[in-house]
Amino acid sequence: MTLPKSEHRKLSIYNSLTKEKELFTPLVPEFVGMYVCGPTVYNYVHLGNCRTFLSFDLIYRYLKHLGYKVRYVRNITDAGHLENDADSGEDRIAKKARIEAIEPMEVVQRYTVDFHEIMSAFNALPPDIEPTATGHIIEQIQIIEKILGAGYAYEKNGSVYFDVIKFNEDQQYGKLSGRKIEDMIANTRELAAQSEKKNPQDFALWKKAEPQHIMRWPSPWGDGFPGWHLECTAMSTKYLGETFDIHGGGMDLKFPHHECEIAQAEACNKTTPVRYWMHANMLTLNGKKMAKSTGNNILPRELFSGNNAIMSQPIRPAVAKFFMYQAHYRSILDFSDQAILASEKGYQRLMEAMNKLESIEDSDSSDYAIGPWVDSCYAAMNDDFNSPILIAQLFEAAKWINNLSEGGAKITLDDLVLLRTTMCGLVYDVLGLPKEMEGQNNGQQQLDAAVNLLIDLRNQARANKDFATSDAIRDRLQEAGIQLKDGKEGTSFSLR
Ligand code: AMP
Ligand code: ZN
Repeated sequence: MTLPKSEHRKLSIYNSLTKEKELFTPLVPEFVGMYVCGPTVYNYVHLGNCRTFLSFDLIYRYLKHLGYKVRYVRNITDAGHLENDADSGEDRIAKKARIEAIEPMEVVQRYTVDFHEIMSAFNALPPDIEPTATGHIIEQIQIIEKILGAGYAYEKNGSVYFDVIKFNEDQQYGKLSGRKIEDMIANTRELAAQSEKKNPQDFALWKKAEPQHIMRWPSPWGDGFPGWHLECTAMSTKYLGETFDIHGGGMDLKFPHHECEIAQAEACNKTTPVRYWMHANMLTLNGKKMAKSTGNNILPRELFSGNNAIMSQPIRPAVAKFFMYQAHYRSILDFSDQAILASEKGYQRLMEAMNKLESIEDSDSSDYAIGPWVDSCYAAMNDDFNSPILIAQLFEAAKWINNLSEGGAKITLDDLVLLRTTMCGLVYDVLGLPKEMEGQNNGQQQLDAAVNLLIDLRNQARANKDFATSDAIRDRLQEAGIQLKDGKEGTSFSLR
């Protein structure tokens, strides 16, 4: 991999804490520590979850591309995440285990394996460390003891709560989300009398396990389990230090999760934990956030197979990823058939240009200013990872490549080498799109064309009342793993 020029290393990052774009300077020169909240593995990840993880894959890849030695830690939440944010309800994993009558760790295993398969289908790089909450119970207990020792937590009936009001007297609670403690108190609906907490704003560091709670560990306060926010403080500190460079997650984690992480770390270590807070925006469906709980979501496998009610055809992972990167990670992105199909055309155009790039021949002069174009590509990524602007620049180059390959323009050898290394670096290393051989990228189109031809023949057979033929076409496709779906808008297909 060729490193970009040093002047291309002027990266600005939008810091959700200061709400400003700031020049990125790592704590230790040349090294970057990055922590991203991983999935709670009680269900299949939906495409919205994937958008956040792919946003951070782009960020990880770009930091590496700039030559930084990055330690990327992304956890697996396998305990402690209750059904709602106010420290009540069942543990999400325990609930799934109860419903399916299996061990909680079977739930964890099943959905962790699925998550890894999906991430690798998207060609996302694995993190450098992928720690689990259950693997760090001791570290979490140690942090609670430190917070208790500092006077910012209290024990009640075998549970330990973080004292938000006490903390706010000395430090500021709410600085990331911009919430004020007085407003939180005024807006709270929880009745203090029904709770063990001194104040409804307090949050659990450790919860006593009721007899029926199967996910439990011994602690100085009796058998129980850690509060959800604690694991990220424990694991980020353990692997990246008390202060580290980047902490990321989806926008919906800002409050309470990340706010509580800041409070825990400040109470425990007396230092601010994160230098750049980064939040990825939501993927929506029908204008509403994709979410596991509401059912308003589409699963990656449903997208890849076409087995869903939204898409008119199966979509390859690389196309779905390209679609996501055509929006900036801090913008809301709405998922629709039309939008993805438009992205697919663009993706195809870019990949065709990548193939042609290999056979272009050099000349004695250049019709295109390649150097300034390279600068604009890096300027886009350096402006808070602006992938849509980068992709617009790649499309510009694709136009040039088409002209060059048709002999309608010229390029010198130096410019050609620069164009090739920059295109390959940005398309394959940074965007993480898979290298496709000529013809291979048309596989989907060829399949579409062949199945659509059979659909036409079936329609003709039906019109001629030749039902033996029309049924045979449907059944033979079914045997081959291709399911026809008759709908109002005609017949579509999905892969089983
Ligand atoms: P969870 O497994 O619910 O803890 O979520 C894993 C990650 O996905 C978190 O960073 C969430 O913020 C993120 N996330 C959840 N829903 C969406 C969505 N609709 N769009 C983008 N990211 C999401
Ligand atoms: Zn977290």
